[in-house]
Amino acid sequence: MSYQAPYKDMQWLVEQAYQTQQLGNLESLQDFDLDLANAIMDEANKFASGVLAPLNMVGDVEGCTFSDGQVTTPTGWKDAYAQFRDSGWIGLALPEEYGGQGLPKYIAQPVNEMWLSSNLAFVMFAALAQGGSEILLKFGSDELKARYLTQIVTGEWTVAMALTEPNAGSDLGALTTKAIPQTDGTYQIKGQKIYITYGEHDMAENIVHLVLARTPDAPAGSRGLSLFAVPKYRVNEDGSCGEFNDIRCTGIEHKTGLHGSPTCSISYGDNDACVGELIGNLNQGLMAMFVLMNEARLSCGMQGVGLSELAFQKAQQYSKERVQGAGADGQRVAIIEHPDVKRMLLNLRSESFALRSLGYQIAALIDVAEQSKDAETAQAAEKRIALLTPIFKGFATEQANELVGDAIQVYGGMGFVEETGIAQVMRDVRITTIYEGTTGIQAKDLLHRKIRMDQGRCISELMADIRDVVEKSPDSVVNQRLGQVLNQLAHVLDSTILNPSAELAQLDAVAVPFLNALGGICCAWQLAELAQQAQVSKAQDEVFFGNVVALAEFYSAYKLPQAQAALTTVIEEQNGVGNYEF
Ligand SMILES: Cc1cc2nc3c(=O)[nH]c(=O)nc-3n(C[C@H](O)[C@H](O)[C@H](O)COP(=O)(O)OP(=O)(O)OC[C@H]3O[C@@H](n4cnc5c(N)ncnc54)[C@H](O)[C@@H]3O)c2cc1C
Repeated sequence: MSYQAPYKDMQWLVEQAYQTQQLGNLESLQDFDLDLANAIMDEANKFASGVLAPLNMVGDVEGCTFSDGQVTTPTGWKDAYAQFRDSGWIGLALPEEYGGQGLPKYIAQPVNEMWLSSNLAFVMFAALAQGGSEILLKFGSDELKARYLTQIVTGEWTVAMALTEPNAGSDLGALTTKAIPQTDGTYQIKGQKIYITYGEHDMAENIVHLVLARTPDAPAGSRGLSLFAVPKYRVNEDGSCGEFNDIRCTGIEHKTGLHGSPTCSISYGDNDACVGELIGNLNQGLMAMFVLMNEARLSCGMQGVGLSELAFQKAQQYSKERVQGAGADGQRVAIIEHPDVKRMLLNLRSESFALRSLGYQIAALIDVAEQSKDAETAQAAEKRIALLTPIFKGFATEQANELVGDAIQVYGGMGFVEETGIAQVMRDVRITTIYEGTTGIQAKDLLHRKIRMDQGRCISELMADIRDVVEKSPDSVVNQRLGQVLNQLAHVLDSTILNPSAELAQLDAVAVPFLNALGGICCAWQLAELAQQAQVSKAQDEVFFGNVVALAEFYSAYKLPQAQAALTTVIEEQNGVGNYEF
């Protein structure tokens, strides 16, 4: 079956995010409304289901090929890229000044989700273009903006993010690529990077590598990293592509999944002729790169949502067709009639619905942070985004792996057979908990930087907002359960996470369970609030809104207890990972 965007969910959840974050109050967004959002989603759905989804399995089966420094993308990729570019999808949420469409993030988010569900391997260049443009907009000189932005926003050129090296993955402070200053103000770049997504390909004329490197006198560690714009072909005065810039692809990885996306090893400056230009200030490269990384982390969370949705659609359809076993009346039934199969489908459905809602709320919060004229409102939105980013990235991707496993279980033996396509989803989703910072790294960021360093202020504000939702319908069982878990979380924060005498090693050991608990609580919060809204709107569409309430009930009975269990682990950790001798 081919992917179809869950249009009704998307429309309703966009509307909810619009209202919750009061986007109607933002002056600069007055030209945009929900009708426009729906029209754009409609077009995007046609492209996603008509052009991208049919290429998904082609990309998986054929993969990319590498020969003599050149990467060839799978059949149909180049043509799809040209259509994607010419339809203006790359610059959807980028400034009109540079050829984009300047749409708010709350409209771009469901569109992104459609790309991610329909063909994740293909569309990975889009988040790179978005994040790369934002780096240049924020930190680039006027000269750099003029040289690169229009080309990137319009998709004439693509972007590669070049951080990772053989000895520097999670620990970027260990990277050794050199940037040697030249008399003309440029830098000579020299070093090896690995795992660079779309670092080389055949779809665009030029590739702008954003390279983290170290100048000769830079301080050690991550404080000594600077960021450089390093094009594959140098750019002539008139903006055309000039001389080759001594950037060589030395190979592509043979991966578990995402076969259609080239993951490249890149060698910069083998002949001492690779020229880069500094973006922003010296030694502040990691700060600049964080703009792209945060963008990429949120996009990665949406990958979890998109692939869970795809898995749900496939599993639901299969479960309606496959006849096996009998019902209470002895008649043979489709497997969807078995309660355990329903449980797995609801697991997929409730989690992806809740995570979609969270992802759309974050996108709307970005609009508030970027567009609000009230400094306090904008700052509060920024802080909330910073807190939610590791939770969303970590939890959505961890859940997506579990959920795709459930989808395979629904298929039975056919789930283990490639031709159904669900096995591809399992292989593709596996990387999402690893790249853009592993779950372990997200969890430490959450626990230390976002909660302990902030002395718990942002998390307390989030908990107060969740408590408000709970108190709106105190008699609902869903809300009562959520209220109990909030009490447990408050206790865990006081006694463990924010306890100044807590042992760091012990905290690090429970960081991922803690992240998972917060992820589950945030999803239960989304569903509780949506269920309240659904009760109000029920008469308009009994089935749709009745189902929203059913999802909230399912989640609070089957999934929220997992958050409680994770909090129990956090509080009861007594050297549980410390005594075993490996
Ligand atoms: C398909 C693919 C595409 C990619 N695309 C890009 C790209 O475009 N650009 C780019 O620069 N990179 C890219 N990467 C690299 C990716 O970001 C890294 O693989 C990732 O950051 C993890 O680094 P690593 O593989 O070196 O793992 P390691 O850092 O070696 O981690 C291994 C394990 O140790 C744990 N660990 C490591 N350090 C800590 C710590 N301090 N605390 C707790 N746990 C820790 C990790 O959580 C993990 O479980 C890509 C990778 C893949 C596979």
